[in-house]
Amino acid sequence: EAHKETMGFQTEVKQLLNLMINSLYSNKEIFLRELISNAADAADKLRFEALSDDALYEEDGDLNIRVDFDKEARTITITDNGIGMTREEVINNIGTIARSGTKAFFGQLTGDQAKDSQLIGQFGVGFYSAFIVADKVTLKTRRAGTTKEHGVLWESAGEGEFNIETIEKATRGTEVILHLREDEDEFLNGWRLRNVIRKYSDHINLPIIMQKEPVPDEEGNIDESIIEDETVNKATALWTLSKNDITDEQYKEFYKQIAHDFQDPLSWSHNKVEGNTEYTSLLYIPSKAPFDLWDRDRMHGIKLYVKRVFIMEDSEQLMPRYLRFIRGVIDTNDLPLNVSREILQSSKVIDTIRAASVKKILSELNKMANNEPEQYAEFWKEFGQVIKEGPGEDFANKEALAKLLRFASTETGNADQTVSLEDYVSRMKDKQDKIFYITAESYAAAKNSPHLEVFRKKGIEVLLLTDRVDEWLVNSLTDFDGKHLQSVAKGDLDLGELEDEAEKKAHEEVEKNFEDLVDRVKKTLDEKVKDVRITHRLTDSPACLVADHYDMSGNLERMLKAAGQ
Ligand code: ADP
Ligand code: MG
Repeated sequence: EAHKETMGFQTEVKQLLNLMINSLYSNKEIFLRELISNAADAADKLRFEALSDDALYEEDGDLNIRVDFDKEARTITITDNGIGMTREEVINNIGTIARSGTKAFFGQLTGDQAKDSQLIGQFGVGFYSAFIVADKVTLKTRRAGTTKEHGVLWESAGEGEFNIETIEKATRGTEVILHLREDEDEFLNGWRLRNVIRKYSDHINLPIIMQKEPVPDEEGNIDESIIEDETVNKATALWTLSKNDITDEQYKEFYKQIAHDFQDPLSWSHNKVEGNTEYTSLLYIPSKAPFDLWDRDRMHGIKLYVKRVFIMEDSEQLMPRYLRFIRGVIDTNDLPLNVSREILQSSKVIDTIRAASVKKILSELNKMANNEPEQYAEFWKEFGQVIKEGPGEDFANKEALAKLLRFASTETGNADQTVSLEDYVSRMKDKQDKIFYITAESYAAAKNSPHLEVFRKKGIEVLLLTDRVDEWLVNSLTDFDGKHLQSVAKGDLDLGELEDEAEKKAHEEVEKNFEDLVDRVKKTLDEKVKDVRITHRLTDSPACLVADHYDMSGNLERMLKAAGQ
């Protein structure tokens, strides 16, 4: 079985490698962040699996990451004693097959090197960043729980193919050896490496160890026998520190590390909660939407820890879908360490933490909306459409969510979504008891709809809803502040008290005079329509289509048809 074989990379992987090698050299140092992040993930996975199988530690429970360099050989080696990989896992994870993020990564490239290099982490293609500085990468690994003859050696020059071979490996975990390219000698320097580690990986939850820089004696000689190790990073989980001991810079760096984002977060909220349920949460609102925001099934972003031990990241249980862009950490002492997905699904503790976390985020957003409207406008641009899924999904927080909503409106004269329901209500006319809106497929279509004519004439504001999600939104959000949300394109347009007596009389008169005409039109259109009525909603247009009060709106019908339903 100790077979050696050469395998080819998939086309997409080849393209990716090509890109790394030829165009992402403006921010080279990120290779170290990515490889350390993989080593830390591997430690997390081992800790988790070892919860149910202690033997996986093989008497070596001090999880750590080592970074070494060799000036002579011109190599940098990153070593971890984490979970390791089997031969099959090596092939699947860093071998032939392009990972799901690869395609998306290519789609997002801007051609701006600095920006593009920052995207690497987000798309799960971090390992290949090794080839930015290395012209050959050797990886030796052994899966925890297998014996020493099940080691695997993977080696590639980052061109079309890689070699894979079964080897003996005494220690569990993974060792990545970078054979540096000719011009990359700057990284064969302990201070440079320390600097990069502290910049990106200071709060990785386990020690990153390097050899101490040797101090030459008076004659300038170095005594190799006294060289010691030291921990280079802080190695504390940031969220366990007290707020006063954490700087904004540290909060931001930690966000970048866990979210694989290169931009600062928009805001964050760090809470230590004591009482019946004890937990710490550190939750971030990103400033930009991730590439997979529209994939409602890709729930990740909240890392769940129990007593500092990483349990899982796929945390559907911890956030509702409409908050899937939130990133952060939740750490509790109140769950068993061997918690499973099944336990999470019916856990009171999780329910409590989730409910409190959602409240916290909504109140953070509300604060931002009130105190920093410009920042909130940025937030709304990125995430508004997702927040609009909220009222349909989270009944308990419907009111809080309704306050966060922003819409375009006839009042502002532009397509920006800036008007809140509270703004609308504050501008309502005397005797107006409804919030009027129109749904349409575009701003132009909404603004120019004949349905608005009578409202314009009377100076009544109408919200212009043109996002796809708006149809679902108005289905679930029927009232705000005791006022009914009313489509101007549905049913009998009853302006209620807004019509004066004279107007009502005039309308009745018109209706009577045109009874014959209406009958004739009804007969002609026959089955094609449900009803034909005289309308007072139009001032310029001769006729318009109206949906019955309980029917789908015309816009929704159009959307469903377009979706093939
Ligand atoms: P990501 O970390 O986002 O999954 P990477 O390209 O950085 O993407 O890594 C690809 C995969 O290779 C990882 O998901 C993991 O399965 C595997 N891997 C990489 N480095 C290690 C390591 N040091 N130990 C164990 N598995 C690793
Ligand atoms: Mg990675």
